Amino acid sequence: MIISQLKPFEEVLDYVDGEKKVFIVGCKGCAEVCHTGDESQVLEMKGKLEREGKTVTGYCVIDFLCDKALIKTRLYLHEPEIDAADSLLVMTCGIGVQATAAVVNKLVHPAANTINVGGARGEWRGSERCRECGDCVLDYTAGICPLTACTKWLINGPCGGTKDGKCEVEPAVRDCGWHLIYERLKKLGKLDKMKTPPQVKRYGKMQPPPELRSTIMWALEQKETTKV
Ligand code: SF4
Ligand code: SF4
Repeated sequence: MIISQLKPFEEVLDYVDGEKKVFIVGCKGCAEVCHTGDESQVLEMKGKLEREGKTVTGYCVIDFLCDKALIKTRLYLHEPEIDAADSLLVMTCGIGVQATAAVVNKLVHPAANTINVGGARGEWRGSERCRECGDCVLDYTAGICPLTACTKWLINGPCGGTKDGKCEVEPAVRDCGWHLIYERLKKLGKLDKMKTPPQVKRYGKMQPPPELRSTIMWALEQKETTKV
């Protein structure tokens, strides 16, 4: 189970600023349970966007947005509505947004943040990974997570070691995440996204909420803070 939480609507509106038409994708997996991407939330989002003057060209709620083969077959049925849209708004966790971005030739926007609640979570077959950072930045990285695609978790562009599209840490086996982001933005004609002002990562958001912290580490920290 991956926990997601809808972003403030103002943030979503910022993402679609300058765009007129949006296609919405929801998820009946974990996102349905978290109330971030089931059909009722998708329809609610559709209404909110329309009230802001946007045209929603269509929507689709897919069983599991972490399965690329499934996404491809479902979205194929909506090809004309997707073609008509400027972008896709994806209402699910970071894995689902990345998986959707990997199979469509359109810009994707994340509608939710993926939250770390500690403990175990579900498994998925795809190559997409999410560190549950609580403040999803996939909007300006073309749907490729810099916290997992980049070995050093860099969120404001590549380090000086990237060479020939490979990561300096493991050049034989690993592409540079920021090279991948650059190439996808270029393909989408959205390189201007790289001019997004530098991000300040609030790492505190990667911690589970206090009431859910139950790891050994947290117990030790508690001891440290309570003994003085
Ligand atoms: S930016 Fe990456 S780690 Fe953060 S929520 Fe999005 S996919 Fe997950
Ligand atoms: S070479 Fe690329 S992927 Fe590797 S650490 Fe530097 S920016 Fe990150």
